Amino acid sequence: MSKETRHAEVVGAGFAGLTAATVLGQKGWTVTIHEKSAELRPLGAGIVLWNNSLQVLKAIGAYDALEPRSMVPPFYETRSQNMTVSKETFDGLPWRSMTRKALHEVLVEAAAKAGVELKVDSEVVTADPSGSVTLASGEVRSADLVIGADGVLSKVRDSIGFEQTRTKSRDGITRLIVPRNKELLGPGEWDNVIDFWNFEPRVLRVLYVPCNDDELYIALMSPVDDKEGSAVPINLDVWVENFPHLEPILTPAARIHGRYDGYQTNVLDNWTNGVVALVGDSAHAMCPALAQGAGCAMGNAYTLAVAASTSTGDLAADLVSWEAQERGITDRCQSRSAYFAETRSMAKGNQFTTEMLETAIYDPTARG
Ligand SMILES: Cc1cc2nc3c(=O)[nH]c(=O)nc-3n(C[C@H](O)[C@H](O)[C@H](O)COP(=O)(O)OP(=O)(O)OC[C@H]3O[C@@H](n4cnc5c(N)ncnc54)[C@H](O)[C@@H]3O)c2cc1C
Repeated sequence: MSKETRHAEVVGAGFAGLTAATVLGQKGWTVTIHEKSAELRPLGAGIVLWNNSLQVLKAIGAYDALEPRSMVPPFYETRSQNMTVSKETFDGLPWRSMTRKALHEVLVEAAAKAGVELKVDSEVVTADPSGSVTLASGEVRSADLVIGADGVLSKVRDSIGFEQTRTKSRDGITRLIVPRNKELLGPGEWDNVIDFWNFEPRVLRVLYVPCNDDELYIALMSPVDDKEGSAVPINLDVWVENFPHLEPILTPAARIHGRYDGYQTNVLDNWTNGVVALVGDSAHAMCPALAQGAGCAMGNAYTLAVAASTSTGDLAADLVSWEAQERGITDRCQSRSAYFAETRSMAKGNQFTTEMLETAIYDPTARG
């Protein structure tokens, strides 16, 4: 089949699927993305991206649209029992915070511009390593390349039977977007990302992430077995008792229904089988400690699409080489994130050492 006529079926319109589809579209493939939801929208609330994914956004032409909708907080501050233990700047490494809505919208725009066909209400139920997907409607669609970017509960992965080890974390998080309300918070450096950890009288954490002038992302962490801490809508009395200085942002948070999500680490024996490749949380879901899940998803989606596009012969073998190229750095990030989630040792501060920033520093566009 000639390069011009190559076709990809991409499952899932999250950050991984949209990135891979855009690169393939830009490289001359015909691409269809299947999204099971009735509308194109992200899961979650806000997000921090680092150099790896920011370089990908630049390479696909989506960065300029995102820049005015995001910000660079001056410091990543860690507080324990409301005492500052560290303020990190990562030696000038590029990073930005934003709402997931802003990131998702610029990726959808980039995919549409690249000629990608986006189908909503289109659930894929199985995939075949020889290059086909079956939709919930019963339709079977063939492709030169199938990408399973359908998240942590991937049907592409599970229908093919990829072997995996899954470890669930003992903590979970409720993620919300609330008004900044900076003026109500009193004196302080309220443009910083602030990671508030409390171990007394109970384990609770508020990750405070300004996204722009108006919107604040807060991630409220509590142990899975803490019924009050993990309740949604949030139990205002519990959270204000533990973080009284944050009442102006916790009060509007309590008016949103929200969702408490656990998180997990999925390590697969392989990310590819035949001409099916898994990318993002379907292949390498990780705990959010280092804020690298989407960064790895977008970086790996980019290099996957480049590898498939430069393949002129045995695509299945080239997908295996792509996995070998990316695997080590992603595996190390997953295990470091799992360690921090297990030990809760991010509360000590100064966790973003050069080693811990390995994936954040990596530039997938220089390699692909
Ligand atoms: C609390 C928390 C905080 C985080 N913070 C950060 C952060 O700051 N920075 C960072 O880089 N990462 C962060 N992450 C990780 C990041 O959110 C994920 O790694 C990333 O969103 C994964 O993207 P994805 O495209 O692989 O999967 P998803 O975002 O899960 O997208 C999958 C898509 O596929 C669709 N889908 C699912 N099944 C099917 C099907 N069968 N057919 C069709 N469509 C289907 C879904 O509806 C969805 O749209 C965080 C994660 C958590 C839990």
